Amino acid sequence: IIILDGVYFRYNELSVLEDICLTIRDKDFLGIVGPNGSGKSTLLKLILGLLAPQKGTIEIFGSSPAEARLKIGYVPQFATFDRNFPISVLNTVLQGRLGKTRTLFGYTRQDREAARQALAEVEILDLEQRPLTALSGGQLQRVLIARALACNPEVLILDEPTAHIDPKVEEGVFELLKRLNERLTVIVVSHDVGFITRYITRVACLNRRLVCHPAAELTGKMIEELYGGPLKVVQHD
Ligand code: ATP
Ligand code: MG
Repeated sequence: IIILDGVYFRYNELSVLEDICLTIRDKDFLGIVGPNGSGKSTLLKLILGLLAPQKGTIEIFGSSPAEARLKIGYVPQFATFDRNFPISVLNTVLQGRLGKTRTLFGYTRQDREAARQALAEVEILDLEQRPLTALSGGQLQRVLIARALACNPEVLILDEPTAHIDPKVEEGVFELLKRLNERLTVIVVSHDVGFITRYITRVACLNRRLVCHPAAELTGKMIEELYGGPLKVVQHD
């Protein structure tokens, strides 16, 4: 359903992606790993049509990324909103209906139903009226996943969704993604090799070029080569 063929991307002088070929099939659960600055977020933005490659083609459901945009839910790496402004959880999730809603005059009942259904799916419907200012990091991450689900996508793309949460909450997020993967194609950038080998089926190792492996075959040595050293493992009790 997603096919990248010979994709090159550079920001001005900086070549980030070279000759990327990647095929993602329906219901795949794909992990993307690679050191900081290796182009993981750039790769996702190409799939989302937020950037265009200088060379090569990207096909999504047989059309261009721009045309397929509403079939993809996106949880960005840096969710930039003012956490001091008390917008509610429900109104945040409703933002996911933008581009999908049928009216210019506020949201429809259908939009609200879709937003509530998304909140129920990530198990925080009880928080719908809470302001974002009153959430834990893990709850906030679920709100962002619900916002991505609100447009009823067929693919869910998450850019380091567990970067700032502790391992126990992180496990909950991976459990949620595993459950969503029963009906959706899921693509997730993560540095957490432990969770990747446990939950994910296939992993793409990115460092300018891209190589895919079955996640179960990912070894510490491969990670050391990719990252230029062992990954720091944060210890928690
Ligand atoms: P991280 O693990 O830190 O999130 P990443 O693998 O997601 O890194 P990208 O964000 O894709 O990496 O960035 C790849 C390279 O492109 C980096 O060297 C970055 O500095 C550069 N870059 C990213 N965005 C821009 C931009 N808008 N203009 C110029 N250079 C950029
Ligand atoms: Mg990134």
